[in-house]
Amino acid sequence: MKFYDAHNHLQDDRFAGRQNELLAACEKSDIVRMVVNGACESDWPQVAALARENKMVLPSFGYHPWYLSERTSDWQKNLEQFLGEIPSAVGEIGLDRWKPDLSYAGQEEVFLAQLQIAAARNLPVSIHCLQAYGRLLELLQNNPRPQRGFVLHSFGGPAEMISALAKLGAYFSFLGYFLNERKQRRREAFRQVPAERLLIETDAPDQLLPGDKNHFPLMDANGKPLNHPANLVAVYEGLAGFLGGKLVPIVKRVEENFQRVFGGL
Ligand SMILES: [Zn+2]
Repeated sequence: MKFYDAHNHLQDDRFAGRQNELLAACEKSDIVRMVVNGACESDWPQVAALARENKMVLPSFGYHPWYLSERTSDWQKNLEQFLGEIPSAVGEIGLDRWKPDLSYAGQEEVFLAQLQIAAARNLPVSIHCLQAYGRLLELLQNNPRPQRGFVLHSFGGPAEMISALAKLGAYFSFLGYFLNERKQRRREAFRQVPAERLLIETDAPDQLLPGDKNHFPLMDANGKPLNHPANLVAVYEGLAGFLGGKLVPIVKRVEENFQRVFGGL
């Protein structure tokens, strides 16, 4: 079996230079490709370096709404440069009305600028959306989108919106955090996701799985638990268990979906 991680942050500083060790564990677990998302200009070079050194890494470059205040006046030029240098996706980009003290001002403008770049180059996009799904749907309906589709990473939007988003080209990515008992509503929404639009991710080092499913315990320098990217297989197993299906068909389906949206990069 081959496993595909639709979204993680392998470059994250909390992994403290242990990336090769993590990648080796992923390889042993039959993980063949992972989309590693940059979130701001300062981490784009790290993402590019990881991709140059490891063919498992599919690089993705974007400005995450949490880090907009860090952007330089050249950020769009820099983004285009990274996208031009190495086959890559766009992301993580998004809208966030959930994070306390985060200003919403300017988020839509930066999101749309990046969506536009992805649409013009027909590159897949990884989208983060918290408490802004209604607005996200409007923006996606009224702006150019990449023809090959876009990924709603850690999809936690309302189940009623799934078909409208799917019509626009959305893929819906499931993560291990939703295997926590109290996240039942989030899990249930995935019953509505069309089979040809399902993806699976770790979002490592964040979004840890429940303890009994965390087969690769890992900590940062301060003893805080981190999500290891090799936990991906447990996310697949958890989703298969929840949907009442077998693992093999889900693995095949996700492989086809991953290839359709990220293929060629
Ligand atoms: Zn992320």
